[in-house]
Amino acid sequence: MKIISAEFETSAAKPGQYPEAVLPEIAFAGRSNVGKSSLINTLLNRRHLVKTSSTPGKTRLINFFVINNAFYFVDLPGYGYARVSQKERKKWGPMVETYLRSRSTLRAVVLLQDIRRMPGTEEIQLIEFLEHLHLPVLVILTKADKFSKSKQAAQARQIRGHLKLKENETVLFSAKTRQGTDEIHEIIGGLLME
Ligand code: GDP
Repeated sequence: MKIISAEFETSAAKPGQYPEAVLPEIAFAGRSNVGKSSLINTLLNRRHLVKTSSTPGKTRLINFFVINNAFYFVDLPGYGYARVSQKERKKWGPMVETYLRSRSTLRAVVLLQDIRRMPGTEEIQLIEFLEHLHLPVLVILTKADKFSKSKQAAQARQIRGHLKLKENETVLFSAKTRQGTDEIHEIIGGLLME
C-alpha cells in the first residue's frame, strides 16, 4: 500500500457527524497509551498527523482521516484512560458501539494490545462484539521492541490463546523499529479490497 496523501477530515460523536459513507474504512481501537497514534502515524508515514490520546484535555471523539482519497482510517477514542472523568468514560461505550453497529462502510477493526500485557475484559468484550457484528478483527501487538524475538513469539502465543485467535489474526509491531509495518500494510490492503 503506497500512501500518497493522508489528511484529517473530521471528528464525530454521532452518526450525523460522520463523513458520507462512500469510501471503505478501517477503524483502530485500543487502550490509551497502547501506541495507537504511533501505529497510525507509522502506517501513514507521518510524524504528527494523529495526536496522542493521552494529551490532557483532548476531546475524545471519533477522528476520520482520508487516505489517498480512496479510504478512511478511523481513530476511535482510547479507553481505560485513568484521568478521564466518569462522565466522559460513560460516553465511550455508546459512542463507539453506535459507530461499530451503524457504519456500513466499515471493513475491519484493528485492535491494539501492548505485547507486555495480557488482554483485559475490554479487549475480550470488544472482540466478542465484533464477532457478533461479523466484522473482521486484526490484533496488533504493540511495542514489540520491548522484548527479544523469542519472547515476542512466546507472548504472542499466550495472548492469542487468551483471545482465542488464530496465528494470522495477530501481528507484532514496533513504531520504534517499524517491525511489522509492511505486513500490516498488506493485510489492511487486503481487507479494503474485500
Ligand atoms: P496512544 O495513546 O495509544 O495513541 O499511544 P501513543 O502512540 O501516544 O504512545 C504512547 C507511549 O508509548 C508514548 O510514550 C510512545 O512513545 C510509546 N510508544 C508507542 N509505540 C511504541 C513502540 O513501538 N515502542 C516503544 N518502545 N514505545 C512506544
